[in-house]
Amino acid sequence: MKAIYMKATYDIITEPNPILRIPSVKTVTSEEIEEIKNSGMAQKMVKTLFSVQYSVGLAAPQIGITMRFFLFLHNKLPVFCFNPEIISTNDFKTEYIESCLSCSGSHAVDRNSDIKVVYTNLFKKQIVEDLEPMSSVIFQHELDHLNGILITDYKKEGN
Ligand SMILES: [Zn+2]
Repeated sequence: MKAIYMKATYDIITEPNPILRIPSVKTVTSEEIEEIKNSGMAQKMVKTLFSVQYSVGLAAPQIGITMRFFLFLHNKLPVFCFNPEIISTNDFKTEYIESCLSCSGSHAVDRNSDIKVVYTNLFKKQIVEDLEPMSSVIFQHELDHLNGILITDYKKEGN
């Protein structure tokens, strides 16, 4: 019998793989959240996130799963957001320089620094919260992934 080797982390899909451009339309169900938690997939995603230095977020499409959820570092802790939505934002946007595990280089992106969001966490609890600027920016970046949008899309005039 051959030894079965299971990789501890997921391979991250990079541009120009078309999977990154597919909007994840499927709402994640309670049963699927349970499955993601109990199958070891959630843990493997956390390991994948922490395997890359300075990484702060990983969306399902980046590991080839077109479902509406992502993992992000929120107040330094890995938090899963299922079916995330932005409820409200502050009035103006600020420019941030972002990088992405799926794209090369850094890109300027205009983001709201204060957003109010709703999502279901890994324990199937619905969370409504106001995010501080760091988490706001990461949340918007990861939410973009669920809609097939990458930071390379935010090309500014003069760039
Ligand atoms: Zn990204």
